[in-house]
Amino acid sequence: MFVFDHVEYDHHERIGFFNDRKTGLKAIIAIHNLNRGPALGGCRMWNYESEEDALTDVLRLSRGMTYKAAITGLPLGGGKSVIIGDAKAIKTPELMQAMGRAVSQMGGDYIIAEDVNTNVNDMQNIAKETNCVVGLPAQEGHGAGDPSPLTAYGVFTGLKAAVKYRLKRDDLKGLKVAVQGLGHVGYTLCRHLHEAGAKLIVTDINAEVLEKAKQEFDATVVGLNDIYDVDADVYAPCALGATLNTDTIPRLNVKVVAGAANNQLAAAKDARVLKDVNILYSPDYVINAAGLINVHYEYQARRNGGGYDLDTVYSHIEKIGETITDIFEKAERQNITTADAADKIAEQSFRSKDDVDHEAA
Ligand code: NAD
Repeated sequence: MFVFDHVEYDHHERIGFFNDRKTGLKAIIAIHNLNRGPALGGCRMWNYESEEDALTDVLRLSRGMTYKAAITGLPLGGGKSVIIGDAKAIKTPELMQAMGRAVSQMGGDYIIAEDVNTNVNDMQNIAKETNCVVGLPAQEGHGAGDPSPLTAYGVFTGLKAAVKYRLKRDDLKGLKVAVQGLGHVGYTLCRHLHEAGAKLIVTDINAEVLEKAKQEFDATVVGLNDIYDVDADVYAPCALGATLNTDTIPRLNVKVVAGAANNQLAAAKDARVLKDVNILYSPDYVINAAGLINVHYEYQARRNGGGYDLDTVYSHIEKIGETITDIFEKAERQNITTADAADKIAEQSFRSKDDVDHEAA
């Protein structure tokens, strides 16, 4: 397995491989960039088919965290970790404690959080070994708990900015929004949209939640595969990744895409396809960044012994609207995709002068 020649290797600063025989822990921690601060990112537990797949995932995800932290204006770098194995079969409190020791070996440069197949309990076990952990249960004065309501608010803020930019509207009254996925984020997003006067068209695999949305928000329910064909102003993907692809984009009858899902574009080139059909795409890692903003303030509160102030968190989340607008303006000025514009803005803020000089040489 080659690391420095790996297709996803992008000048990552440090990659640690950890093995604990007693608990069966096999993990990789990747730190992509530390120029803005310690690298904060989740820990994914997955039964990867090979170590190569685990490495690919952690390299790609850690790089993404650098971009997300930078564009959100947080004093953080980008990192991520993966634990190789089936969570249901091998996860124990002792294994998570061993992961905590791995985190502490990164010397304060990596701060771990929840991700796929890890949860608050796991973070509590990790916290027995290291202070470099966030996503602990909400306690008096120390935040932060479930980030989904904040993520939903961040998406709502970004969606409003996108509607203002593309449709020149300050309010959402009568605006038709197609929401895919009414889970933790999607359902709360629907509530914000409904309260703002938008008309909702929704889909989910869960019939119960659809019935609830019909009752509570007067939402129109459509089939799973019909959500791409509805006549709407905005498509808000809040379920799966890769729903913007060569099959779905030609079917979309919307002006704006603004949703919570991670990795919405099936391929990087799909950003160009969206631009060509004049659909304004709100880059996913910008619009769904409220969870990261939240855990940043949780970490600060614990480190400084100060309180966790939800108003400060909300004020930072509201800036997502300004950031998204900056991205749209840059994309238009330079005739590039909004995805490329977001990456460029992020790169300007995390690349050090040395990096830039080195690349220019
Ligand atoms: P969730 O699991 O609570 O909700 C997902 C919803 O999508 C569920 O209601 C599920 O039934 C539905 N769903 C699954 N497959 C579907 C399909 N084919 N069509 C329609 N609906 C389908 O997840 P969540 O926490 O609400 O997160 C939603 C998305 O946002 C995910 O992609 C997640 O990675 C991303 N995200 C979440 C957060 C957060 O704070 N929770 C932060 C950043 C990004």
